[in-house]
Amino acid sequence: MAQFQSFSINNLGDPFIESNYGVHSRQFEVAVLDWFACLWELQQDQYWGYITNCGNEGNLHGLLVGRELFPDGIIYASCESHYSVFKAGRMYRVECVKIDALVTGEMNCADFRAKLLENLGRPAIVNVNIGTTVKGAIDDLDRIISILVECGFQNRFYIHCDGALAGLMMPFIRQAPKVTFTKPIGSVSVSGHKFMGCPVPCGVVITKLEHVKVLSTDIEYLSSRDATIMGSRNGHAPMYLWYTLNKKGYKGIRKEVQKCLRNAHHLANRLKEMGVSASLNELSSTVVFERPQDETFVHKWQLACESNIAHVVVMPNIDVEKLDDFVEELVARRAWHERKVFDILCVAKDIGQENCLCSLHN
Ligand SMILES: *Cc1c(COP(=O)(O)O)cnc(C)c1O
Repeated sequence: MAQFQSFSINNLGDPFIESNYGVHSRQFEVAVLDWFACLWELQQDQYWGYITNCGNEGNLHGLLVGRELFPDGIIYASCESHYSVFKAGRMYRVECVKIDALVTGEMNCADFRAKLLENLGRPAIVNVNIGTTVKGAIDDLDRIISILVECGFQNRFYIHCDGALAGLMMPFIRQAPKVTFTKPIGSVSVSGHKFMGCPVPCGVVITKLEHVKVLSTDIEYLSSRDATIMGSRNGHAPMYLWYTLNKKGYKGIRKEVQKCLRNAHHLANRLKEMGVSASLNELSSTVVFERPQDETFVHKWQLACESNIAHVVVMPNIDVEKLDDFVEELVARRAWHERKVFDILCVAKDIGQENCLCSLHN
């Protein structure tokens, strides 16, 4: 792809309406969007979407569509949702109700129902996580829909699915619940630099064509329609995504998803064998474990930590040897710290394990 670096490729405006700027990659963008619309079962003439600059932008777009359809709606999102969801609430001045999460990271549906019942008079805009950032948890979309209907929100709700990482993995796991527009959802977004491994930040958002009519205006200066969050958009990103999708194909992606799940299980098992508290949600490649006390180690492995826990998101480029090296070094560092009388963190509360493994050490 290096040969394209010398061009200033810009897909500004609506991907489906040619603007007056000629150096664009709209053909690639639309091909990629077609692929995703097909993946999430929305017909070619019924979807709208675009290649965003990141997953944040996809969430900002999906939730904006929800707000435009239901100006007096309330955003409901579990407390494990990505920060961009709460940012959307602040930017759009939409009231945001935080729902409790289970210890797995999944939305607590009983709490969701209770909070809906407190606000029967106002429509619901719901952010559903298809893989939370920290624990890789999948919210129960089917249950969320039936709760909305049971509580009398029929035709008065909008669902945005935040599938930044796992939105691309779920369709390739046979036993996974389906994210599809055959269910009453309004939009789905994913990041392109996560599972697809695009070398520049990007993402994809898909919604229903009928929905964008509420938020688009014609801009003479671009001779295009303004329905995107950002104006100028990275024209290289669609080419990278197009190239990757074509090179890997459905078969290649399925293989990579299976490899990630297998390797994540390997990592979780290795950690437990070595006495490190760890957990892994079913259908996820995100392994959660006790936060290492050694900051050099955290920095070296670029670990993301949140209070007592850290996580490893096992991606296709990581092999078993790398994971074993990681565990070996973690355990060595931990033993060293133990001798230096640091307390090993107890994470039973964070990951829902009944007996605390760390008590073996203390
Ligand atoms: C990573 C992530 C995002 C978006 O992140 P970007 O860095 O903007 O691509 C959104 N939601 C979840 C759950 C994520 O993990």
